[in-house]
Amino acid sequence: MLLIDCPWCGPRAETEFSCGGEADIARPLDTDKLTDKEWGDYLFMRKNPRGVHREQWMHAQGCRRWFMAQRDTVSYEIQGYDTFERPLLAMDGNEGQAQEGKTQ
Ligand SMILES: [Zn+2]
Repeated sequence: MLLIDCPWCGPRAETEFSCGGEADIARPLDTDKLTDKEWGDYLFMRKNPRGVHREQWMHAQGCRRWFMAQRDTVSYEIQGYDTFERPLLAMDGNEGQAQEGKTQ
């Protein structure tokens, strides 16, 4: 059994998590112009590599939050985690723009 380190809850058993498949798949912007093959590739085709792979996981029986993990599909070793949280720098930038608008 894998021991997965939830970024918010800490190490938990694999059975508490749901795997959401390959990470970093961007939805096409203009879906009306896609061919059926391009749309099918976006929906169904995944890499399934032997080796290092980035996946999405959800802590289904815990905090129910999504995160990304980099995992070796041969050894099952999880090499790192990443969240979908907005960087603090971007939030500070938006607040700064809002304050500038108020003073004008
Ligand atoms: Zn959690």
